[in-house]
Formats: sequence, structure tokens, C-alpha cells
Amino acid sequence: MHITGNLVNAYFICRRKFWLFARQLTPDPKNDLLLLGRLISDSAYNRQRKELIFDSFRIDFIRKQKENIIVCEIKKSSKGLKAAEMQLGYYLLKFKEMGINARGEILIPREKKKIVFELHQNIEETLKEAIKNMQELATKANPPAVNKTSFCRKCAFYEFCFS
Ligand code: SF4
Repeated sequence: MHITGNLVNAYFICRRKFWLFARQLTPDPKNDLLLLGRLISDSAYNRQRKELIFDSFRIDFIRKQKENIIVCEIKKSSKGLKAAEMQLGYYLLKFKEMGINARGEILIPREKKKIVFELHQNIEETLKEAIKNMQELATKANPPAVNKTSFCRKCAFYEFCFS
């Protein structure tokens, strides 16, 4: 199975969400939260952004700072920051595997925040372990059980899980 950055993000938010995404069960595209995310991502940093579709995954934008390559990921809030870091870490890992050392930034325009992120050894190990687990989880016939957390209320699969 091809792992995308969005799948990595979903995995670190909720295993069930990952499974649903992995099965290409797409939540309602008109869902308000998805629209909000898209709107922020579409309107923020317009001047400097250059979305990049790279090895079939989509990076919000990349910029150069002197000799450094900075991979930027735009998020709508700092809730779920760990998942955002893992998503960005996954992109940095992919770059590293191609011999490119890059750094990351998570940009949260609504909170006027910029979080600098680097791929450390422990993150790399966590990611490699997670990728193994994702490959295994994606082959399961049934999704993991509903696990109610603070992410559920704003999850695009809320109706699916709780109705
Ligand atoms: S609603 Fe909650 S349990 Fe269901 S997929 Fe979303 S985060 Fe996971």
C-alpha cells in the first residue's frame, strides 16, 4: 500500500480514521471542517506557496533558505500537532531516502505560528515502526473500534462513527 502524508497524519490522530482513509472511504467533501482546512490552505501564504506533488504525495510548499530546503506544511490549528509533525517527518524521511537533507516548518496562519521541525533519530524510528503498523492495519478486514477522543467532534468521519 502506498502511504501518503495524509494517511500518516490520520494514523497519529486515530487508527480507525487511518483505516477508513486507507480504504479510500472519503468523508463528505462538503464537510465544513474539510472546507475550512482547504480554504486556509488555499488562501494562506499565497505569494510564496508552490504546492508540490512529489512522488505522488502532496506537499503544501517548499522554500529555500540560503542552502537549506524547507518543507512547509499548513495546518488550521495546533490541535493534532504531533500528527502534523509526523506527517512532515514522513516527507523529510522521503527526502532523506533520496539523499536530500531538508528541514520542516508547520505553519498555522490562524494562530500566527511557525513551528520549526527537524527529523531526529527518534522521530525516524517512530515513523518506520508506524509505517510497518500501517501496512499491517490496512490489510485488516474490519476497522479498529470507535475510540472516542477530543478529535472525534471535529473529525470528518464523526457521523459515520457515531450515528
Ligand atoms: S470520529 Fe473519532 S473514532 Fe471515528 S474516525 Fe474520527 S477520530 Fe476516529
